[in-house]
Amino acid sequence: MNIQTEITKTSGADYDAVVIGAGFGGLYAVHKLRNEQGLNVRGYDSASDVGGTWWWNRYPGALSDTESYVYRYSFDKELLQKGRWKTRYLTQPEILEYMNEVADHLDLRRSYKFDTKVDGAHYNEKTGLWNVITDSGETVTAKYLVTGLGLLSATNVPKFKGIDDFKGRILHTGAWPDGVDLSNKRVGIIGTGSTGVQVITATAPVAKHLTVFQRSAQYVVPIGNTPQDDATIAEQKANYDSIWNQVKNSVVAFGFEESVKPAETASPKNGSGSSKPPGSAAVVSISCLAPFAILRPAKWPMMRPLTSSRAKSRKS
Ligand SMILES: Cc1cc2nc3c(=O)[nH]c(=O)nc-3n(C[C@H](O)[C@H](O)[C@H](O)COP(=O)(O)OP(=O)(O)OC[C@H]3O[C@@H](n4cnc5c(N)ncnc54)[C@H](O)[C@@H]3O)c2cc1C
Repeated sequence: MNIQTEITKTSGADYDAVVIGAGFGGLYAVHKLRNEQGLNVRGYDSASDVGGTWWWNRYPGALSDTESYVYRYSFDKELLQKGRWKTRYLTQPEILEYMNEVADHLDLRRSYKFDTKVDGAHYNEKTGLWNVITDSGETVTAKYLVTGLGLLSATNVPKFKGIDDFKGRILHTGAWPDGVDLSNKRVGIIGTGSTGVQVITATAPVAKHLTVFQRSAQYVVPIGNTPQDDATIAEQKANYDSIWNQVKNSVVAFGFEESVKPAETASPKNGSGSSKPPGSAAVVSISCLAPFAILRPAKWPMMRPLTSSRAKSRKS
């Protein structure tokens, strides 16, 4: 079955649906619309292949901060049982490999046109169709437009004064080229958020000299990326029904038990003193901490104590 020969059900349209993005969101949309609902779908991504965020963010040290057993699709039991990981958090190459396997398993790649940016989409009230325009000069029509653009896929290249005069190589973590070797180089890293911390940690041991430029200090904790033994992984795989039930009924969907105790009720001793505005601890946690597992009860005072043996085994 080839996308060109699939029949579009929407009268007068090139496709039933256009999906922008081949990350977790876009791939799932193509699967649902094409494989399950039988629609003729065209996907676009400005990247050269599937992966979304994980195709672009190839910088050294790139790592998930959701634990390996839950940073994956929940809908396919076969894929879940085939899942492979060795450590508590996944490295970027492992995630990209997983997404390639998903694309193969569900035969998704053939619905995509890669290296193609969608430049515009306009809804035509008269025809009831979307006109989707790409940077290759193509315009296609579709009844449905699904935007799986991602929340972190646009690179923000800062306009520092004098940046154009810099004689060295400028790299952006969100568009990291293959084959970069920073060993024995003088490296400057700007920014100390989650990504900055990851790339700093990976670059420091190999660079000749590393300078870190930090405007605002972040709250940083050790990742605790320990190896996971086969028994733990087997237990996780055997318990996916209850794991997804917990994840889907939780606030941050990271696979650990969350506190129901308001931050305002925590004592100063537990890290939320009266000098801080009510609720500030929780806000800080969600916006800047990596790994998010610090939000667990055992690590964070506002959280309930761990109860299950599975949860206990996942304490770092
Ligand atoms: C370093 C890093 C670590 C992260 N760790 C975690 C984690 O541990 N847990 C977690 O839950 N989340 C994490 N995230 C967030 C991550 O972005 C999401 O988990 C998820 O990958 C987003 O998937 P997505 O499909 O929504 O978007 P993306 O994966 O961003 O995919 C969007 C795609 O759309 C394409 N696109 C955008 N605009 C256009 C256009 N106009 N035309 C064509 N194509 C376009 C982009 O090229 C991109 O490939 C992390 C992000 C980063 C960068």
